[in-house]
Amino acid sequence: MSSLIIENLKSDPMKIRLMHMPQKFEGDSPRAGEMFIYIMAMGLFSLASELKKAGHDVEIVHAGMEFLADPAFDLKKYFIKENPDLLIFSLNWHPQIFETIEAARAAKRVLPGVKTAFGGFTASVFAEELLEDFSESVDFIISGDGELPLVELAQKLSKGEEPEGVPNLFFRKDGKAQSPATYWCPSEPEFSSYDFADFSLLRRAESFSAPYIVPPGSTLQSIAGHDVFYLATSRGCTVNCSFCGGGKNAHGQYFKRSEPIFRNPEAVLHSVAQALDHGMRSVYICFEMPHARQDYYADLFDAMAREFGSGRIRMLFESSVLPDKRFIESFAHAFDLSGSQYILSPTSCQEHLRKRFLGSFYSNAELEKSLAALESAAIETLLYFSIMPGQSLDQTKEMIRWQTHLRNRYSALIQTMPIELEPGAPWALEPDKFGLRILRKSARDYYLHHKALSCEKIDIQRQVGIDDDALIKSWRFFEEFERRRSQA
Ligand code: SF4
Repeated sequence: MSSLIIENLKSDPMKIRLMHMPQKFEGDSPRAGEMFIYIMAMGLFSLASELKKAGHDVEIVHAGMEFLADPAFDLKKYFIKENPDLLIFSLNWHPQIFETIEAARAAKRVLPGVKTAFGGFTASVFAEELLEDFSESVDFIISGDGELPLVELAQKLSKGEEPEGVPNLFFRKDGKAQSPATYWCPSEPEFSSYDFADFSLLRRAESFSAPYIVPPGSTLQSIAGHDVFYLATSRGCTVNCSFCGGGKNAHGQYFKRSEPIFRNPEAVLHSVAQALDHGMRSVYICFEMPHARQDYYADLFDAMAREFGSGRIRMLFESSVLPDKRFIESFAHAFDLSGSQYILSPTSCQEHLRKRFLGSFYSNAELEKSLAALESAAIETLLYFSIMPGQSLDQTKEMIRWQTHLRNRYSALIQTMPIELEPGAPWALEPDKFGLRILRKSARDYYLHHKALSCEKIDIQRQVGIDDDALIKSWRFFEEFERRRSQA
């Protein structure tokens, strides 16, 4: 169905570059030399391949790889040399906002005729504001899914037509942002027809890897061992976690998606085969959501074992629900368990805080039962925690004790990280409902925050973006505890 649509949208070829900008730390930042959001949004592959099918000259450019390959890499020189007609910037995660806006600004300075389109979650949340407040960088915003809208936009631009009528497209007219007349989401067959692993569309594909953080002094060679391919299986969520900008309501509001969609197993297997052909053996799926297609992943794992052989692939699987018996059995049978992980985010050790802030609940006892089952199947677990608003010092000490117990009893790996305020998250949209005082709201606030964060030392309160004395006190205590633990 999708291919038919694309066939009808063939237009004069345009030169299109899809850009991924990581956050870069420098100057007086304690993280100087590091890159964050090195992981690229999975959708860049599907967008690029749909544009290619429509006949355009397309390439995905991961600026992080360019910086590692050549520390003197100059974006302006790159833009001048490439001279694209259309630049598509992925602004999915808010930490990318400063670098992405600056890259687009640089492009438009050196190539006044180039058009720039932004897409992704953060771009969708701030669509109107980005068009009006950053007009020197942004021409178009694709809100929500981008495959068909980008093909239509490219077609209109190549014919010199106005962009009116393109679904999901925010554009500017007389200095004011204009909303889309219609919205579009792919159907499941369309979603399944997209190619999420055509490495030929990625510049420097031979050096592609996806570490969460790139430490100072890294080179393309030094991070090459980070063999993880992010595998697209679904879009959407069934619940709302207070801190997450990608929950059910955000998908409804910004993406006009009422329920999650899934790729059919054959399409997912095809992507895995492409990743294996490219030399990658570890795939990351994020994630299983509550009450959605209960057996989808267990069926998929069985199919992967049949197709590629049991134990050939390493699986990193991030879930918001506890695994059932069938899931554990399929996982243990399908994957190479040395290097595979089941990843969960209990977030808090306090059940009342988990109930208040997370969209799906399980008790501590239920979690421990699942950890025991995973351990007896030899599946490693990684647990993510944070310190939540309203969490007292005593509760933080309790969290530390429980984490020690989980490490000792179930060999669980544990990471505790601050949750930063995120655009479109329930507690960012309605802070009063959660009793929070938040420190940033607008795209400009996030831009200035990340501009400062990338080159200054800033305190934990500004980092999380929530003005809460108990939270800050708990974080300072926890950081001191971790510092001493690492020295012991
Ligand atoms: S963090 Fe919560 S709301 Fe966000 S995607 Fe995961 S389960 Fe859904």
